[in-house]
Amino acid sequence: MATLSPMMQQYLDIKAAHKDHVLFFRLGDFYEMFFDDAVNISKELELTLTGRDCGLPERAPMCGIPFHSAEGYIKKLIEKGYKVAICEQLEDPAVAKGLVKRDVIRVITPGTVIESSFLNEERNNYIASVIAQKRGYAVCFCDISTGDTYLTERQTSDVASDIIDELSRFMPSELLLNETAASLKPLVSFLQNRLSCVCETLSEEDVQEESCKAVIESHFKQSVSEIEAVQTGVSAAALGTLIRYVASTQKDGAKRITSVRFYEEDAYMTIDMMTRRNLELTETMRAKEKKGTLLWVLDHTKTAMGKRYMRKAVEQPLYHLAKILRRQNAVKAFVENELVRGQVAVALCDVYDLERLMTRVLYGTINPREMKSLSYTLSKLPAIKTALSVFESGYLKDLCDRIDPLGEVHALIENALVPEPPVSLKDGGVINPGFSDELDEYRTLRDHSKDYIAQIEAREREKTGIKTLKVGYNRVFGYYIDVTKSYLSQVPETYIRKQTLANSERYITEELKELEHKVLTATERITALEAEIFEEVRQFVAQQSVVVQATAEAIARVDFLLSLAEVAAQQQYVCPELTMDGALRIQNGRHPVVEQMLVDQLFVPNDTTLDTKHNLLMMLTGPNMAGKSTYMRQVALIVIMAQIGSFVPAQEAQIGLCDRVFTRVGASDDLSAGQSTFMVEMNEVAHILRHATPSSLVILDEIGRGTSTFDGMSIAKAVAAEIIENKKLQCKTLFATHYHELTEMESQFAGVKNYNIAVKKRGDDITFLRKIIPGGADESYGIEVAKLAGVPERVVSRAKVYLQELSEKAPVRAENKVTESVPDNQVSLFEQASSPVCDALRAISIETLTPIEALNKLYALKQMI
Ligand code: ADP
Repeated sequence: MATLSPMMQQYLDIKAAHKDHVLFFRLGDFYEMFFDDAVNISKELELTLTGRDCGLPERAPMCGIPFHSAEGYIKKLIEKGYKVAICEQLEDPAVAKGLVKRDVIRVITPGTVIESSFLNEERNNYIASVIAQKRGYAVCFCDISTGDTYLTERQTSDVASDIIDELSRFMPSELLLNETAASLKPLVSFLQNRLSCVCETLSEEDVQEESCKAVIESHFKQSVSEIEAVQTGVSAAALGTLIRYVASTQKDGAKRITSVRFYEEDAYMTIDMMTRRNLELTETMRAKEKKGTLLWVLDHTKTAMGKRYMRKAVEQPLYHLAKILRRQNAVKAFVENELVRGQVAVALCDVYDLERLMTRVLYGTINPREMKSLSYTLSKLPAIKTALSVFESGYLKDLCDRIDPLGEVHALIENALVPEPPVSLKDGGVINPGFSDELDEYRTLRDHSKDYIAQIEAREREKTGIKTLKVGYNRVFGYYIDVTKSYLSQVPETYIRKQTLANSERYITEELKELEHKVLTATERITALEAEIFEEVRQFVAQQSVVVQATAEAIARVDFLLSLAEVAAQQQYVCPELTMDGALRIQNGRHPVVEQMLVDQLFVPNDTTLDTKHNLLMMLTGPNMAGKSTYMRQVALIVIMAQIGSFVPAQEAQIGLCDRVFTRVGASDDLSAGQSTFMVEMNEVAHILRHATPSSLVILDEIGRGTSTFDGMSIAKAVAAEIIENKKLQCKTLFATHYHELTEMESQFAGVKNYNIAVKKRGDDITFLRKIIPGGADESYGIEVAKLAGVPERVVSRAKVYLQELSEKAPVRAENKVTESVPDNQVSLFEQASSPVCDALRAISIETLTPIEALNKLYALKQMI
C-alpha cells in the first residue's frame, strides 16, 4: 500500500494542529500550500495550482509563493479574514540529517498583526474576547500594536444587545467568543451582517475562570486580586482568554499588554451600529469613506497617535460631565491662545508614531531608520513641553507634565546611530564612529589595513634598527616579518620564527597575529558588533517603555485637543454649556458636515428647543428635500460633538447630556440579512422602544414608510404616543413625517410641538427656505419637488390630474398620498376611533413586541378590516 512521503507526513502533522489556519510550509525559497489550502488559496491569491508527489498514487495539489514576497500575500489573506500559520525550517537543510525540522513559529491573524504595512495608522486594530453569561458578560479589547487594553463587565438582562453596542464602539477585527456568546442569535446576526471580523468560538474549557486567572497571574506577575480592572471571574475569563490566545500566535505575543484599563460603559454615550452609520460619524453611508463625516470635520490632528485618539473619541462620546468638561476646558484654553496653538502644531508635525514604534522596539523588529525616527520624535518633545508650560492648571498642564522628554533615550540613540542609517542592519554603517572603541578599531582595520601594516613596519624597523625589515603576507602564515640574514642578530626575542628562506627568515609576532585575525574577521565583526550595539540601544529603549507609552498617550491627547480647538476657531463654533437637566437649547445651530460641503450656498442655521416636559417631541413636517433629515442629524451631531468635548456649530448652545442617541433614518435595506425594508425598520423601532430612556435623544425619520399608508401612519402615531406616554421612555424626540395627520397630536398630547420647514411657493415653483418654523406643513409639494428634480413636464402634469381625482374620491388629505394609491377596502383608522381594530392596536404593547410578533399582529389587524 502506498504511504505518504515523510515530508508530506510532517506537513499533515503540523496542519492537524492548525486546522483553522492557512499553513505556509517553508520549502527552500518558497512557502508552499498543499491539499485543501492549495485549492482554496490558489483561487484567493490567483496562484497557479500545481501538484507534488506525496507518496500516494495521486499528486497532492500544491501552490506556492516566494518567501521574500510573502508579506503582500499574507496581507491579502488577512484582509480576507484568513489566519496564516508560518511554518519555517528550523535547521539548515544543507547540514540537516534526514528530514529538515519544521514548525510553526507564528500565526498571523487580523487582530494580532504588528507589521506597519498591515496596519492603518489612523485607527486602532483591536482583538476582542467576549464572555457571555445568562445575565451578564465581560468584554476585553486589546490593540497589540499600541498596547491599549480595555476591560469591562456588566450585569444585564439584555446581554446580546449590550455586547453589540460594545462591539460597535470598538469595531474589532478579530473576536473570541465563549459558547454562550456564540449562541446569542442577535449577536450572531450582527457578526454575520454588520461587523467584518474574524470570529472564533472557544470551548467552555478554554475560557474556564481558574485557568484564565492563572494565565493572568503568570503574565502580569501579580495576583489577580491586585489587578484593579479584573473585577470578578467573568472579566478574568475575558482577559485571560485574550492573553492566552495572543501569546499563542507568536513568541512574546502578549508582551505589549502591560496594563489593563477597566472602563464603565456608563461613562460613554451608547450609540448603536445603525445610528453610527446614519449619523456618518466616521464613515459615509454610501462611499464608506472619511470625507463627509463628523470625523473628517473634526480631525485636523498631526500625528498618527492623535488620529487614532480622535477616531476613538468620535466613536465613543462621553457621558460623564466632569470628563467632558476637562476636555472642553482644555479646548477652550487652546482656542484662546492662538500663539501656543501654532507652536504646538509646528512641533507635532514632526512627531512619528511613538506607540507603534515602541511596539516594534519591544518585539525586536524595529529597524535602524525607525529607531532614528523615534529619536527624532523625542527631539520635538521639549518644544511641545515649553509651549504647553504656559498653562498653569487643568488638563493641558496635566498632559504637559506627563510628557517626558526622554533625554537619555534621545541622547543614546543620537550618539549611537549615524544621522541617516540604512533601513537594514545588515547593510552596515548604522553605528556612529566614536561610539564604540572596538567597532572603530575594526572599521579602521577594515578600511586602513595597509596603513596599519606600514605603521607596524616602520615602528619595528626603528625599534630593531633592521633597515630591510618588511611586513609581508602569504596564505600559509598570514602576516609575517621578513628579516634578511645579515640582520638576524638584531631580531628581538619576541619574534617567533616561522620559515627560513635562502636569504631571509620570516617571523610572526603576537601583534601581527592579532592584527591578522582582526583584519580577516573585521567585516564579520563589524556586522556583529553593530548588531550588538543596536540591540543594546533597543534594550535600553525597551526598558523605558512605560514612560514612552505615557508620553505617547499624552501627545495623542494634546494633538486631539489642539485639533478640536483649531476646528472651533476656523469654523466659528461656540463652547456649549453642558448641563444634566436633559434640555437642549441650540440657537442658530448648523450641520457641521453639510455646511462644509455646500458649494455655492450658505447654510441656513436653525434653532432647537427640546426638553423633558413641554418640548419633548418635535413633530417635523415639510416636503421632501426641504432639509428635515439634515436638521435632525444636525441636532444629534451637535449633542455628540458637545459630549466629545468639542465646541459646536451654533451661536449658542445648552446641551443636557444624553445617555444614548438613537436614529431611525431612511429606508436602509438589509437585503444581505434577508430582511425586508419594513422588517428592518420595525426592528429598529422596536430596539429604540426597548432601550431608550428619558435621558436619550431619539431621531425618527419617516417611520412607517415601508408599508401601506394607513398601516404606516398608525404605527408612526402609536410610536410617537408611546414615547410621550411611557414614563420609561419620554425621551427627547425629533420626529419627521410626511403624514400630516400626525400634526393633530400636538393638541392631543402635551409635549408635542409641530414644526415645519418654510417653503416659498410661486405658481408651480417652490423654493426651500430651510428655516424651521412652528406649526405643521400645509402641503406636501410632492409634485413640485418632482418637477424640481427634473421629472418630465408630461409626467408632472399627469400627476396633478391624478391628484385631483384622488382628492375628489378620498376626502382625507389626499395630497399626502399621491405616490401610494389607497385601496378601496381600506378604512381610515383614525376616523373609526372605537373600532375593534383601534382597540386591538391600543392593546398592543410595542415596548415588549418582538419584530416577528409585530408582523403577526399587523397581519391579524389586517384580517380584522
Ligand atoms: P429632507 O430630509 O427634508 O428630504 P434633506 O435634509 O435631505 O431633506 O435636505 C436636502 C438638501 O438640502 C441637503 O442635501 C442639503 O444640501 C440642503 N440643506 C438642508 N438643510 C439645509 C440648510 N439648513 N441650509 C442649507 N442647505 C440645506
